[in-house]
Amino acid sequence: MSMNSQGRATAPHAASHAAATATDAGATFTGNKALNQEEALIFELGNPGVVGVDLPEPATAKTRLGAVKPRGAIGLPDLSEPQVVRHFTRLSQKNFGIDSTMYPLGSCTMKHNPRLNEKMARLPGFSDVHPLQPASTVQGALDLIDQLAHWLKTLTGMPAVAMSPGAGAHGELCGLMAIRAALAARGETHRTRVLVPESAHGTNPATAAFCGFTVDAIPAEENGRVSVEAVKAKLGDDVACIMLTNPNTCGLFEPQIKAIADAVHAAGGYFYCDGANYNAIVGRLRPADLGVDAMHINLHKTFSTPHGGGGPGSGPVVLSEALAPFAPLPFVVHGKDGFALVEHADDTKAKPFGRMKAFHGQMGMFVRALAYILSHGADGLRQVATDAVLNANYVLASLQDVMSAPFGGPCMHEALFDDTFLKGTGVTPLDFAKAMIDEGFHPMTMYFPLVVHGALLVEPTETESKGTLDQFIATLRYLADKAKAGDAAHFQAAPRLTPRRRLDETAAARKPVLRWTPPVPAPAAE
Ligand SMILES: *Cc1c(COP(=O)(O)O)cnc(C)c1O
Repeated sequence: MSMNSQGRATAPHAASHAAATATDAGATFTGNKALNQEEALIFELGNPGVVGVDLPEPATAKTRLGAVKPRGAIGLPDLSEPQVVRHFTRLSQKNFGIDSTMYPLGSCTMKHNPRLNEKMARLPGFSDVHPLQPASTVQGALDLIDQLAHWLKTLTGMPAVAMSPGAGAHGELCGLMAIRAALAARGETHRTRVLVPESAHGTNPATAAFCGFTVDAIPAEENGRVSVEAVKAKLGDDVACIMLTNPNTCGLFEPQIKAIADAVHAAGGYFYCDGANYNAIVGRLRPADLGVDAMHINLHKTFSTPHGGGGPGSGPVVLSEALAPFAPLPFVVHGKDGFALVEHADDTKAKPFGRMKAFHGQMGMFVRALAYILSHGADGLRQVATDAVLNANYVLASLQDVMSAPFGGPCMHEALFDDTFLKGTGVTPLDFAKAMIDEGFHPMTMYFPLVVHGALLVEPTETESKGTLDQFIATLRYLADKAKAGDAAHFQAAPRLTPRRRLDETAAARKPVLRWTPPVPAPAAE
C-alpha cells in the first residue's frame, strides 16, 4: 500500500476490500486531489505555543476552584487562526450536505433550510437571551413561542402543544409519558401494552420500552398498510395506546386510520401518531380529525430547521383534550402582565407529568420554524405538502419500469423501491447506493422500512426542481441498467472518487474512536 507525503494510505480500503481495483493513477504526492485536500486531525496539526490571539499575561488572579486543582494541561491543540479556519472549512467540504447536493434520504425530509430563518435566529433579541432571565425581559421570545404553538395547534386542529421536546424521539417519549400519566389518573396502570406496526420507525418501540410498556407488533398487510382488523385482533383492556405513523414509513397513506382510532378509543386506549411524515399532509389534513391524541412534529423535518450537525432537533407534541392536562412543564400562559411561564406544578390546576428538559425547548429552532411558517403562510404550507407529494410521485412513476416498487403507486411524500430489480446481478442495495456517491448524489435511505426486502426509500421533498429530479432519475436509470447489464464490479468498487472509499460503517457506529492519543514512536529498526 502506498503512502502519501502526509503518511496516509493512498488507497486505505485496498487491503480490506479485494474488489476495489484502485490504480495509482489518481494518487498524488500530497494525497490531495486538487481542492479535495487531505486533512489531518486537528491534534496532529497543532504545534505547542502557536496561538490565534496574543493576550497579555493575566495579573495573578486568585483561583476560585478551591480544592479542585487542575492536574495538568488539558491537551487542546495549539493553532493559528488560518490553520483553524482552513481545517474546519475543509472538513465542511468533505461530506454531503443539503447545501451541496440533493439529499434524497427517505424518512428524514432533507429540505432546504431557508437563509431567512438563519437571519431571524441571529437577531440579538432571540440569540442573546438567557433561559433564566426574568419573564418581563423576554416578552418577545415568549410571544414567539406562543405564536409558534398557535400555528402548530391550528394546523393540526389540536387544543394543546408541549413545546419542550428536543427531537421526534423525545416527543414520542413526551407523548407516552402523558399517556402513562393519564392512565394513572384513571386508575388504569394495568394498561401496559403498546401496539406498534412492523413498519414503524425504530424509535417507536424503543420509546414504548423505555417508558416501561411492552411492545406488541402489528403485521403489515400485503399493500403496506395497517388494517383495522389486524389492530382489533390485538386490542384488549391491557392496551395503553397504539403508535401509528401516517403517512407511514412506506410513504403510503393509512386509509383506515379513522376506523383504527375509533377502535382503539372504544377499547379504552390512546392514539399516538408519529408525525415525522407530517410534511406530506401539512395544510391539507388536520390530525385532530383522524382521532389523534398525541403527535410529535419534527420541526427539523416539516418546518425546515437544520438536522443534526446543523443544529439541534426539535419535536413539539400536540395533545388532545384528554391528554392536555398532563402536558409537561414549563409552558407559556397569557398572564395579566403579558406572557408568563408556568414552571411549577403548584402554579397550575393542570397535572403536568414533569419536565422533558431543563428549560423551554430549542429556542433557535422555534425562531427558524416560525420564520418558515410565516414566510409560507397557510396557503404556502399547503403547497409544500402538495409539491412534496408530486415530486415523490414523479420519481416513482419515472423509475418504476427499471427499479421495482413493491406497492406500486401513487405514493405520498416518498417513493419506495425494493431490491427485486437487482436480483441475480450480484449488486446489493448497498453497492447501488455507493455508486450513487460517485455520481454526486447522496444515497437514499436503505434497508428501511424493514417490511420490504432491500428497501430503497427516496424522499425528494418539495425543495428539488424538475431539472434536479430529472438528473437524479436519469442517473438511477443508468445505474439500474448498468447493474442489469452485468457490471457488478463497477458497483462493488464504488465509491471510487471519494477521499475515503468503502468504510466499515458498522464498526464506525459500534466502535467509534472518539479520543485522539499521541502516536507512540515506532521502535528503531534493527
Ligand atoms: C425521523 C423519524 C423519527 C425520529 O425523529 P428524530 O427527530 O430523529 O428523533 C421517528 N419516526 C419517524 C417515522 C421518523 O421519520
